[in-house]
Amino acid sequence: MARIHAKIKDARTDFLHKLTTRLVQENSLIAIEDLTIRNMLKNHKLARSISDASWGEFFRQLEYKCDWYGRKLVKIDRFFPSSKRCNHCGFVMDKLPLNLRSWDCPSCGTKGIDRDINAGKNILAAGLAVLVCGATVRPDESKSRKAGAMKQKPKS
Ligand SMILES: [Zn+2]
Repeated sequence: MARIHAKIKDARTDFLHKLTTRLVQENSLIAIEDLTIRNMLKNHKLARSISDASWGEFFRQLEYKCDWYGRKLVKIDRFFPSSKRCNHCGFVMDKLPLNLRSWDCPSCGTKGIDRDINAGKNILAAGLAVLVCGATVRPDESKSRKAGAMKQKPKS
């Protein structure tokens, strides 16, 4: 049993390293939502999948690898309404229950907005705003900001 657990752990670590290295190598900017993993672990419905996916370790690796490769890592404040904001018109929903995976915007009429894709687009837009305008979404948006000149995205 212990050997099986060790094997699973190794496979997970290997996967995380490959994934974070690829993300950092292929992108000059990475924007992430600064989720409070510790608080989310208190939610029993989410706890298992969050700790299985090793989110904390994933963010840690992204951070130091962005430093290594001179990439920009922007953390978007967790209070930024990434899920509730329509990425087409900017309308912000009052409430968006976790189990609602897609929704229709009452303002611009866009139908079937995918919760995660919408959030991803909003987080990227906020990350680009930080990069281009130096807007602050959070006081210490990135440690890797100090890394200096940004490298061009490598041709793949
Ligand atoms: Zn809309």
